[in-house]
Amino acid sequence: MSNHAFIALGSNIGDKGGNCKRAISLISKHADCTVLKVSSFYETEPWGVVEQDKFINMAVEIETALSPFELLEFLKGLEKEMGRTKAERWGPRLIDLDIIFYNDKIIDEKGLNVPHPHMHERAFVLAPLSEIAPDFIHPLLGKSISELFKSVDSSGVKKITQ
Ligand code: ADP
Ligand code: MG
Repeated sequence: MSNHAFIALGSNIGDKGGNCKRAISLISKHADCTVLKVSSFYETEPWGVVEQDKFINMAVEIETALSPFELLEFLKGLEKEMGRTKAERWGPRLIDLDIIFYNDKIIDEKGLNVPHPHMHERAFVLAPLSEIAPDFIHPLLGKSISELFKSVDSSGVKKITQ
């Protein structure tokens, strides 16, 4: 079970932090997934479709025996199980679970792109990720997460200390 993957979580409906926590707990209950690291909560301004509520974003590192597509199917199932309905792109969502990295694998297939193609321009992904994996090198860009984070505007991202 020696694959390492990073997952970005986001929610902007209901108990957003609770939704993220519940998703992490469901991931940790999978026999083939071990949650290794969990970031803080980040409150972030919506991106894309801006007339909607703020998000809570987090990132986790897992160790998994699932293949990338098996992991994607598992995460999509969790989104469904938690009550996410098909909504507009970038619109409000109860929970969004995206695979950011899977080892240093590059996957460019219909339905699965890893590294996530927009992660390096999104402060709401890079902020929590740089907390748990600052030195991880982006396999396509050759830059560390902390370097990538420094080069984006992070004014809409606030770490929640509790
Ligand atoms: P988004 O996360 O882009 O706002 P969705 O969560 O609705 O939108 O995802 C749409 C599709 O993106 C999914 O059905 C999935 O097949 C695809 N997808 C491609 N790459 C990834 C990835 N790395 N992680 C998660 N989903 C991905
Ligand atoms: Mg998604």
